Amino acid sequence: MSLQLQPQVSLKPFNSFGVDVRAQLFAEAHNDADVREALAYATAHDMPLLVIGGGSNLLLTADIPALVLRMATRGIRVISDDGSRVVIEAEAGEPWHPFVQHTLAQGFSGLENLSLIPGTVGAAPMQNIGAYGVEIKDVFAGLTALDRQTGELRDFTLEECNFAYRDSLFKQQPGRWLILRVRFTLNRVAQLHLEYGPVRQRLTEQGIEHPTPTDVSRAICSIRSEKLPDPAVLGNAGSFFKNPLVSAAIVAQIKAQHPDVVAYAQPDGQMKLAAGWLIERAGWKGFREADAGVHKLQALVLVNYGTATGLQLFDLAQRIQKDIAERFNVDLEMEPNRY
Ligand code: FAD
Ligand code: NAP
Repeated sequence: MSLQLQPQVSLKPFNSFGVDVRAQLFAEAHNDADVREALAYATAHDMPLLVIGGGSNLLLTADIPALVLRMATRGIRVISDDGSRVVIEAEAGEPWHPFVQHTLAQGFSGLENLSLIPGTVGAAPMQNIGAYGVEIKDVFAGLTALDRQTGELRDFTLEECNFAYRDSLFKQQPGRWLILRVRFTLNRVAQLHLEYGPVRQRLTEQGIEHPTPTDVSRAICSIRSEKLPDPAVLGNAGSFFKNPLVSAAIVAQIKAQHPDVVAYAQPDGQMKLAAGWLIERAGWKGFREADAGVHKLQALVLVNYGTATGLQLFDLAQRIQKDIAERFNVDLEMEPNRY
């Protein structure tokens, strides 16, 4: 038995909000055998199993009466290379941003816009992580997951993952699929996405006319570092609410009173409202009650100034949801996974 089970472990270092709750049992998986051992233990002891990666998309509102398994599997390998396109595979426990940096150092482009997102490779498909106009579905080549119901391994194609805006089959079927490793198709000849937010402007300011993928990554890191709190300094889980997809009629209603409302047309005719704009306009930016607050620079990010509990953060989130529904007739959906 290689799995080290530890009782009553504080999860404070394992969630980016820095919320202090305890796991009944805690273990780290370093290989597939550890994963299977943890599953067998949980089944034999009739105990739930909660799989986590970097804990950067969690809201923990109580002690966890489960075996919490942190994915710490490592390994990156190129599995095919035709001279222009490569398929690269990474184990679930690989930290995401260093993996992105590794691909760029090899001369592979495709992940540069997803630089500086916290967390692990294995969690990235859960909500089809996205930033600056790129989502992992755009570079996804496949993944291998363990079916926790049958114990069998299954390979998933892009179509089978049901990826959508911050959503996937794995999120829709919670607790069923344990993602072991993920594959991405990357390019040796870069096809850059610069037309989103301030990316091109930042490069221009830096005097870079013909950027490389590494230039884009650096520009995005600098933009993100200015706006987003570093979880090591101020607890947070990134964007706390998804940007709501609404009808053009709802946007027109809001625009009648707020001509500067920020909304983007979607290919399916819906509009994506910037949730951060709604929250800021409602006056919540910089709000703080005890140690739970709304970030001063980015209203979409809830923060823990130190000792906030998950329930205090959850309560604040619910108050914001209620206020936004009353003011704008828009429902905000929470993005982090609540346990
Ligand atoms: P965790 O928080 O540990 O887990 C998230 C969910 O996935 C949980 O339900 C967990 O049970 C499940 N899970 C984890 N690993 C596995 C696995 N191997 N198999 C099955 N289920 C698993 N997100 C974006 O999309 N875009 C951004 O730009 C972005 N920016 C962020 C910035 C900051 C400062 C922070 C704190 C967060 C940000 N996020 C962003 C959210 C978060 O980083 C991502 O969702 C990330 O993919 C979560 O990875 P994780 O390993 O921390 O997952
Ligand atoms: P921003 O650039 O201030 O933009 C505000 C919102 O408008 C974003 O949420 C973005 O939606 C949308 N938007 C901006 N330009 C757009 C365009 N050209 N077309 C369509 N939609 C556009 O956002 P930000 O908060 O600084 O974040 C920058 C990027 O990082 C965003 O892509 C954001 O999703 C991502 N991010 C995500 C998290 C997270 O936890 N999920 C945390 C931090 C940053 P989208 O969010 O749909 O892109």
